[in-house]
Amino acid sequence: MNYVGRFAPSPSGPLHAGSLVAALASWLDARAHDGRWLLRMEDVDTPRTVAGAADTIMAQLTALGLRWDGDVMWQSRRNVAYQAACDSLAARGLVYGCGCTRREIADSALRGPAAAPGADGERPYPGTCRHGLPPGRQARAWRVRIPEGIEHFEDRWLGPQEQDVARAVGDFALRRADGLWAYQLAVVVDDAEQGVTDVVRGADLLSSTARQRVLGRLLELPPVRYLHVPLILDPASGLKLSKQNGAPALSLDAPLDALQGAWRALGFDPIAADSPDSFLSVATARWARRFP
Ligand code: GLU
Repeated sequence: MNYVGRFAPSPSGPLHAGSLVAALASWLDARAHDGRWLLRMEDVDTPRTVAGAADTIMAQLTALGLRWDGDVMWQSRRNVAYQAACDSLAARGLVYGCGCTRREIADSALRGPAAAPGADGERPYPGTCRHGLPPGRQARAWRVRIPEGIEHFEDRWLGPQEQDVARAVGDFALRRADGLWAYQLAVVVDDAEQGVTDVVRGADLLSSTARQRVLGRLLELPPVRYLHVPLILDPASGLKLSKQNGAPALSLDAPLDALQGAWRALGFDPIAADSPDSFLSVATARWARRFP
């Protein structure tokens, strides 16, 4: 079987208990399928990148025994590839410049029929500039024309999923008003470049998956399988554990305890092990039985 998985952290801070769950699940799925597990630093959003965070993440993964294969891919070095993907869509008339400000998008969404924000609080783009920039306006962002229709896919953990991307999200940005390439474009282009067959990541990204599939198809890239793992919530606030919510960095003092905690968070029974490597080999076998 030709399995390629990946872990794609944003180096805006060190790994915490929540990101470890995604890292462990994707590592286990790759090893359970005799696959490769690649590491990609998603530093495309340069203002959010924190100096030293990528090194810390790599040191944390190493201490946990989560070894990656091959060279690390850095999104900050991939401008040429993102531009080429955007150009290929533009050559087919699938990209347009958008002069709307955030404020205008929020206001027109309130007036339009699709007023309700999506699950992640995002409002769909109402299509204001789809047929050309209003007179006197300059393009700020570059958007992709999303075809009508419902996107269906099977999630290996959550089962059948669907989203009407055109209605729920609208024509989304490939290049943002601040000039940065959008995460959605970068992730699709990079997964294809790295030959990724299986994306295993946290359920906070489930709402991005349908649009990534649509974009991948427009770019004529091979489809990818998905498995989204449950998020860990902070017991005190009930919010997702995340850097933004102040989740503490994962300590390197007790890697085995950290692995056991992430494993329990994935809903598995504890494993008797005395080192990260012995834990990981038992966990791989159990994962393989659950997700063949
Ligand atoms: N860089 C994203 C994050 O850290 C993950 C992207 C992905 O796995 O597709 O949330």
